[in-house]
Amino acid sequence: MTDLSRYTTLGTGGPARELAQPESIAEVEELLRRDVPVATIGLGSNLLVADEGVDALVLKLAGGLAAVEVDGPLLRAGGGAANAVCLHRARAAGLGGFEFACAIPGTIGGGIRMNGGAYGGDFSQVLERALVATADGTGWLTPAELGLSYRHSNLRHGQVVLQAELRLAPRPSEEIKAAVRELNARRKEAQPTNRRTFGSVFKNPDHDLSAGRMLEACGLKGHRIGGAQISPKHANFIENAGSARTEDALALIAEARRRAREQYGVELVHEVQLLGDIAIE
Ligand SMILES: Cc1cc2nc3c(=O)[nH]c(=O)nc-3n(C[C@H](O)[C@H](O)[C@H](O)COP(=O)(O)OP(=O)(O)OC[C@H]3O[C@@H](n4cnc5c(N)ncnc54)[C@H](O)[C@@H]3O)c2cc1C
Repeated sequence: MTDLSRYTTLGTGGPARELAQPESIAEVEELLRRDVPVATIGLGSNLLVADEGVDALVLKLAGGLAAVEVDGPLLRAGGGAANAVCLHRARAAGLGGFEFACAIPGTIGGGIRMNGGAYGGDFSQVLERALVATADGTGWLTPAELGLSYRHSNLRHGQVVLQAELRLAPRPSEEIKAAVRELNARRKEAQPTNRRTFGSVFKNPDHDLSAGRMLEACGLKGHRIGGAQISPKHANFIENAGSARTEDALALIAEARRRAREQYGVELVHEVQLLGDIAIE
């Protein structure tokens, strides 16, 4: 039994039934042939894992499945490759278009699963195709087949993004560097960057107010339950204030949803993904 709290950026969650770190496509295919539920994690930067643990085989892609190479305008990356490494390689090759991911601390697989994005860019805009494995076989899927839309894809547990090809465009590395510096500065100004969080809790609702502004207006900045608190800097973030448990974060999420419903008639939809036998109220 391997504790997953050290594999999530919030730092909470119990053990997995089993954790495997496959390094090749063949290894993943073999693991998927076992008759057990499978879930894949990236850098755990958008994950809440049940305190009681996860009764599944959890995969964390490594080795060749986290490798990155540049081939003309294509960046070919393993599903377990960190966005930061991909961006670094793209910049070194003078390829732009992936700058939006500079402040998304996840992997390519997690980015596709979530259609991660920031500052007007997202994975759907650069993804050419993704190699996805399931118990029934492995094949390439296009962004349309993956159903990518705002922080959404059709991917479900048991479907593993093994590799992806991103189509980028020539851009001088100095320009990329300057753009990234500016985006990071904007991020630092508005969001908690030196705290343990899992990024945005909720998707932005179809409303004049963003989720963060709405929860701020509900008086939730700094609200604390157990060891978790709503960020005093940005109300759409939950921070681990020291000894948080997943149940504390779930209670904060339920309270935030209740207040948004009561004060604005809005049903906030969570962006964070759940692993294990837990649910959002
Ligand atoms: C400080 C901070 C800032 C953030 N800012 C942003 C932002 O600006 N924009 C944004 O979109 N997100 C943001 N996030 C959230 C998060 O970084 C993204 O959602 C990211 O894409 C998740 O990637 P991950 O590899 O960490 O995935 P995880 O959190 O490990 O997993 C997320 C989901 O993807 C699935 N998954 C992971 N890898 C694979 C794979 N190989 N195959 C199939 N499924 C997989 C998991 O099962 C889970 O359902 C932020 C998070 C933090 C902590």
